[in-house]
Amino acid sequence: MAYRKKIVAGNWKMNKSATEARVLVADILMEIKKFDASDIVICPPFTSLAAISELINEVPNIRLGAQNLHQQSNGAFTGEISAGMLRDLYCRYVIVGHSERRQYYKETDELIKEKAKAALDANLKPIVCIGETLAEREANDWKKVITRQVDNGIAGIDEKQIEDLIIAYEPVWAIGTGKNATPEQAQEVHHFIRGLIAKHYSSAIASKIRIQYGGSVKPDNAKQLLHQPDIDGALVGGASLDARAFAAIVLASRH
Ligand code: PEP
Repeated sequence: MAYRKKIVAGNWKMNKSATEARVLVADILMEIKKFDASDIVICPPFTSLAAISELINEVPNIRLGAQNLHQQSNGAFTGEISAGMLRDLYCRYVIVGHSERRQYYKETDELIKEKAKAALDANLKPIVCIGETLAEREANDWKKVITRQVDNGIAGIDEKQIEDLIIAYEPVWAIGTGKNATPEQAQEVHHFIRGLIAKHYSSAIASKIRIQYGGSVKPDNAKQLLHQPDIDGALVGGASLDARAFAAIVLASRH
């Protein structure tokens, strides 16, 4: 089996001014500077990227990520931010297709794929979020939903670039609700997603793709979730706003 380095990313969502972000990052650095076994990504709002970029510039195990980007490289798109602009601030990652963007901004699988491609073309690693809603899980439709999201939102990305793409499985019913999937439930879906990647690309590629779990990951459930065979890290919302909790999750991700 290919070795997959764990990756823990903090999605701050629309929280923290640039001033507050500097304080939180300083706290995170104090808590986690000793751990280098996992890739650590901090995804603040756009307005804090420059400030954080300066703070983590010299720290080898922490990278900067954005929460969204536009699919075009420039032009008349008022209020939007391109992949090149993110790269210029030394971003290495960008979250794409978070369920909140799918829900509130009507982002489709097709648009998400365009954004993921734009990110990859600019040398940014996209963290592409997929996951079913509560109604879809209760109707036992999760396989159908995940298959559609992978078929339309990921498959077709160039084989030479796909290994830089990270998938985040985030069951919508577990985001911000305090209800997480059990490690067994999450493992079952991650294994299924890896199978879809193998079908579209190859088993060798599927074994290299990192698949994060997201949805109410906390210090007390992280270890069990992150040590399932197909779970390669976490996308953390609420707990990433607390330096100690985030550091504990990073620590729990160690192999
Ligand atoms: C998220 O928004 O990506 C997320 C997983 O949030 P939380 O950890 O708060 O459930």
